[in-house]
Amino acid sequence: MKPLHHLNAAELSGLLADRKLSSVELCTHLLARCDQYPGLGVFLHLDRAQILRDAAAADQARATGATGPLLGIPVAMKDIFTTKDQPTTAGSKILQGFRPPFDATAVQKLRDAGAIIFGKTNMDEFAMGSTNENSGYFPCANPWSPDHVPGGSSGGSACAVAAGLAPLALGTDTGGSIRQPGSLCGVVGFKPAYGTVSRYGLIAFASSLDQAGPMTRTVGDALALYNAMVGRDPKDSTTLDTAPLAPPAPRKGLRLGVPKEWLGEGLEPAVRDIIQRSLDLLVRQTGAQLVEISLPSVKYCVSVYYIIATAEASSNLARFDLLRYGKRPAEVGSYNLKDWYEEMRGQLFGDEVRRRIMIGTHVLSSGYYDAYYLKAQKVRRLIADELHHAMAQHNLDLVVGPVSPNAGIRFGECLADPLKMYLNDILTISVNLAGAAGMSVPAGLTPEGLPVGLQFVAPRGKEDALFSAALQFEEARGPLPEPPEAAIAACNAKERGLAR
Ligand code: GLN
Repeated sequence: MKPLHHLNAAELSGLLADRKLSSVELCTHLLARCDQYPGLGVFLHLDRAQILRDAAAADQARATGATGPLLGIPVAMKDIFTTKDQPTTAGSKILQGFRPPFDATAVQKLRDAGAIIFGKTNMDEFAMGSTNENSGYFPCANPWSPDHVPGGSSGGSACAVAAGLAPLALGTDTGGSIRQPGSLCGVVGFKPAYGTVSRYGLIAFASSLDQAGPMTRTVGDALALYNAMVGRDPKDSTTLDTAPLAPPAPRKGLRLGVPKEWLGEGLEPAVRDIIQRSLDLLVRQTGAQLVEISLPSVKYCVSVYYIIATAEASSNLARFDLLRYGKRPAEVGSYNLKDWYEEMRGQLFGDEVRRRIMIGTHVLSSGYYDAYYLKAQKVRRLIADELHHAMAQHNLDLVVGPVSPNAGIRFGECLADPLKMYLNDILTISVNLAGAAGMSVPAGLTPEGLPVGLQFVAPRGKEDALFSAALQFEEARGPLPEPPEAAIAACNAKERGLAR
């Protein structure tokens, strides 16, 4: 029998239902694993006593007749979701010590389903980054290799699932932050379509792009977690009446569009090989039809995203001033408001966050608004239309391709060159700009032993086809190896640097 930390949530749920395992035993096992590998840098906050209390309550509920796929199952939570019983920092020093007075809707729904909130995971500060090196606290590891980043910004959640610290996790995805770390760490990452999962209580980065979603060991687990969170929320007016998805039937002969621009210049050969083999597998095993399509506006995605996302961030982050949220320093001299803002925001935001606030403020300022922000909004519309038109024109069910142009990013590689980091988002961003759903499913390992994900993209309303294709792909692919325990131990022992 596999060790508990290698089981997925569906398997664990079966053991719990059959009374072969209790949630307290499961959590005790996983907490011991967390204690074994603190050097992975996964958790910003882990309250062992609280977890065991919640697990005991779940066991008690089961004893009195409660059931459900998430009952007693631990879910690691990116530290961007507000949790009323635990600190929430969004990976930033400016929110150190902040305890929100309420739960995010996603958190509340998972608690209602009996899930155990299993710690708050490390992330790039305010979800800005693709490497986790922008965390305000400490970097996080990629359990496959001590030299490589886990991806970002939901790197802590990806690492938690990949290293077997928690079977399920939540991330958020504004421009790829669920799918890219999912791809780099070899776990499933699903970014739901905009408006399907509530953003209430999710600390906002770019409100028109942010979505919360599952990071899991299997596609089936992602579906279960998504279903527990989906639906209209009166506290988030952008949410829609979306019903949970029934387990999709395996649909044969799906029409899959492959954008030629996604396989073009800049794609690492090892990634291209794995994607090509995966697409061949889908054709052979599921009768999928591949259709080459063109999305010529892909070349504008990065520029458009880094105007819109920074503009929204500059506005969203204006509220962090250490007066309304967070813990003020014990000794403060006398300040006027302007000096206070300069001093506190200047000291406590990291370089990347300050860079984005400045870019965002610039593109919104009078004289530049039309040239940058307004134009970016227009191109955003073109990018979204292009995707939808290509799907309609070729009668496609889905669009498929790589997630990240690189299989691995080395620590330090992007620190001196933010543009290099931004370019890494080129294959994920258009999905957010279009408000579509996207999933990264582990597809294979490079010769170097680094995971690569295959991306499935569907417009809102076509999630059924997405899950159907992803489930069939996962089955055709067969089981993948776990990260070697020796690599995890090597990550645990290694010192890593931060961007600040
Ligand atoms: N890497 C992208 C960025 O730095 C995406 C982040 C995200 O999805 N939260 O903005």
